[in-house]
Amino acid sequence: MDVWQKELVTALLLFLAVSIVGGMTGLFMPLALLLTLGILMRQLFQINRFEKWIRTGGRAKYPKTTGIWEEIYYHVYRIKKNEKKRKKKLGKMVDQFRQSTEALPDAAVVLGANDEIEWANKAAREVFGLQQSDKGQRIPNLIRFPEFIRYLKSGNYNEAVILPSPVNHRITLAVRIITYGAGLRLLLAQDVTQLKKMERMRKDFVANVSHELRTPLTVLKGYLETLQDMDDGESPLLTTSFQQMQGQTERMQHLVDDLLLLTRLETQQKKTECVNIPVLLIQICKEAETLNGSDPARIKLSLETDAHIVGEEQELRSAFTNLLGNALKYSPDDSVVKVRWYRSNGSIVLDVEDQGEGIAATDIPRVTERFYRSEVKRVKKVGGTGLGLAIVKHVLMRHDAKLNIVSELGKGSCFSCHFPAKRACN
Ligand code: ADP
Repeated sequence: MDVWQKELVTALLLFLAVSIVGGMTGLFMPLALLLTLGILMRQLFQINRFEKWIRTGGRAKYPKTTGIWEEIYYHVYRIKKNEKKRKKKLGKMVDQFRQSTEALPDAAVVLGANDEIEWANKAAREVFGLQQSDKGQRIPNLIRFPEFIRYLKSGNYNEAVILPSPVNHRITLAVRIITYGAGLRLLLAQDVTQLKKMERMRKDFVANVSHELRTPLTVLKGYLETLQDMDDGESPLLTTSFQQMQGQTERMQHLVDDLLLLTRLETQQKKTECVNIPVLLIQICKEAETLNGSDPARIKLSLETDAHIVGEEQELRSAFTNLLGNALKYSPDDSVVKVRWYRSNGSIVLDVEDQGEGIAATDIPRVTERFYRSEVKRVKKVGGTGLGLAIVKHVLMRHDAKLNIVSELGKGSCFSCHFPAKRACN
């Protein structure tokens, strides 16, 4: 018999006793009323005790009682105990999480929907100079670099933004935001001081070496030309040696020129003007025809817009010349190369399309890397430095433009430069 049934049987037995005594004494009604009152009082007393116990949190051992009330106390006590255990476990987990994030070498800050700081780890407090009391403060009020505020507002967090640490300008940080949950964002900052230092050293080294190579190269070229002039052609070995030496020095000169241009693109401040692209393209196409000695009908220039672009003319000239040079270089001498300047879907686009050897799909993402040259078996040897497309990529980046490459092996390639329409200036 469970407690509930026991309670019922007790009540029934009491009622039976009252009925018998009441029947014998003729006092059934008063006795029944007394019994009901008694039961009611007992329940009220129990409810009161229970309420007192639960009001104090139900943490203490429950009062001694019997029957259904003992069961109720026991169940509530057990639920409370389990809850306490769960809370303890959760607390331990939160502690462990806190300890691990505190120990992280990278700075981490949790931002709320209004850019307010919800939580920051030790590294974040150190590199951003945050205090415990800054919790709830809006982060743009504390990290005031315009590039950071622009990045935060942009909502486009695909790439990191590079900033100096607000407390120590010698520390360079790569700051990145990751969105999660409902409107929450995690700001991560990594110390990239060493990386940036190495990058600077690499740039300086390349710039210095390239610069230093210029003089010996000019001297070499000068003497070679003199020697070639003196060559009477009697020794074929000497003649071919001179030719090869000249070819190699020219190649080296191109390499040095390209490296110096890349260094300039990486380090120099942008100078901008309104560049007349149609006129520039006409000049480049004419020069390409003369330089390559190719059939003038090979290059088909189509100017569908008169759009001028805000930019650096010399840089744009280098980029476009490289694209056109490649198109002519990597396609048969009798094939057509189309150059098209037009507007499309909010962009101003330059297409340089050839019907040449094309690029393998696996090579396409790599051709803009420095010194990358795809290995294709060619009938004639095609010279190059592997720096042309790296220059194109850099120039376009400096003009907020993107390079798109569509190519198929054996069919040809189309290199498209997409300039944002906001760059138009005429
Ligand atoms: P380079 O032409 O001096 O080798 P680039 O950086 O200009 O260097 O080009 C890198 C590589 O991309 C080239 O070696 C070539 O394999 C490939 N490439 C570039 N343009 C074209 C093109 N129009 N058609 C086919 N392959 C190309």
